[in-house]
Amino acid sequence: MDYLPIFLRVQGRLAVVIGGGAVAARKAELLLKCGARVLLVAPELAAGTQQLLRDTAAAQLTHLCAAFAAEHLEGAALVIAATDSAELNAQVSHLARARGMPVNVADDADTSDFILPAIVDRSPLIVAVSSAGTAPVLARRVREQIEALLPARLGALARFAGSQRERVHRVLQPALRRPFWERFFGAAANLERFSHNEADARDAFSTELAAFSQGQHTAGLGEVYLIGAGPGDPDLLTLRALQLLQQADVLLYDRLVSPAILERARREATRIFVGKDVGESTLAQDRINELLIEQVRRGLKVARLKGGDPFIFGRGGEEIAALARHGIPVTVVPGITAALGAAATAQIPLTLRDVSQSVTFAPGHVAVADTLDWPALARSGHTVVFYMAMAQLAGLTQRLQKAGAPADRPVALIAQATLPTQRVVHGTLADIAEIARTGEFGAPALLFVGEVTRVVQQQALESLEPCLEGVA
Ligand code: SAH
Repeated sequence: MDYLPIFLRVQGRLAVVIGGGAVAARKAELLLKCGARVLLVAPELAAGTQQLLRDTAAAQLTHLCAAFAAEHLEGAALVIAATDSAELNAQVSHLARARGMPVNVADDADTSDFILPAIVDRSPLIVAVSSAGTAPVLARRVREQIEALLPARLGALARFAGSQRERVHRVLQPALRRPFWERFFGAAANLERFSHNEADARDAFSTELAAFSQGQHTAGLGEVYLIGAGPGDPDLLTLRALQLLQQADVLLYDRLVSPAILERARREATRIFVGKDVGESTLAQDRINELLIEQVRRGLKVARLKGGDPFIFGRGGEEIAALARHGIPVTVVPGITAALGAAATAQIPLTLRDVSQSVTFAPGHVAVADTLDWPALARSGHTVVFYMAMAQLAGLTQRLQKAGAPADRPVALIAQATLPTQRVVHGTLADIAEIARTGEFGAPALLFVGEVTRVVQQQALESLEPCLEGVA
């Protein structure tokens, strides 16, 4: 290691920054965030730096409108040279070093004593990344990866833990403290509680602490993450889904969860396929619930992955109810539901001013049943997206027409949305079932019904027309 990584307290201390450009402003801003008093020395300031000066209290940030001179360093706890002159920067470095002041020169490791790392800020938790000046871009990329991995709410959790340290020390024997904190930080449910309901979280903390002090805790703390895995493209997973996939010991996944998504989970995690097709039996669902409960009882963290969003035709409601009955903590992570994924890739706006003001997601496999309000679904100025559309496609389109929708209402059928195998076909209520039948159109697919399915297509055609005329 060429550098000693340390965290330096600069609260209330003087930091001198030489330079008035964007780099100087960025460094000054960071120092201010850490509570330092900053003296900015520059004969002129860039617009952004002037803005920073206006936005900051005079006691924190002072601008000395002058060319750099040695006496400007007086009293500095640290010095940063960020001018665009290498010569001047080297001179600042030389003078600072002569005074025993640690100095950083922007983009020059040789004349620097310290480096400002790339930072992931979840204060009070801070992760600093440095390539020792050899590859700042690489350091920033590593920073981005860590940024995605660490929940935004970690800071609040760390702050709370800090406020409870003394109490935990008072109540627990030294040997029990570490296992206690392991449990506390290991439970995603705590993170969830702390971001939504702090009073609840405090109660849960007290209960847990009391149980621990009386030796009434179980070895591990199992929990369930009910995760919406999105429509298929792994890049459409949420950051929270990725974070929890990294923590899960076991994955229980449906047929609609693509292999590319499973690859994003921890390699060592056990993968259990509990795939079901449309119209799954209740028995299958009961068995899944039992399996979830059994794994959690063994102290495991179980990710229950569902295609799209767990609460849209996903039986997520039934699963959390079953878990709640057994007192098992569940964290629910929303996913991009298939309709939203498909709308984006096929560029069909679900609502559009003057065309459609509302949207309904409806189950298509009940086309022959009377459980849906067909006249409402057939209304104009409205978009309907049918899930599970393939099984009863013909019945579905007929039903809509019977309820008053015109035969030429535009529709789009989208299969395998967001996957490399995605297919989109346009048609009308009258002809889409036939088009799908002859086109060997495979599930999973959605049927979009409404004028919005035609708008983008039409605009594309219109923009092509002049070219086509030219060709003719
Ligand atoms: N919870 C899921 C829906 C489960 S129901 C979600 O929020 O998306 C299963 C239906 O979802 C399928 O029959 C199909 O209509 C739709 N579906 C899921 N993934 C899809 C995809 N990649 N492309 C098209 N439709 C999809």
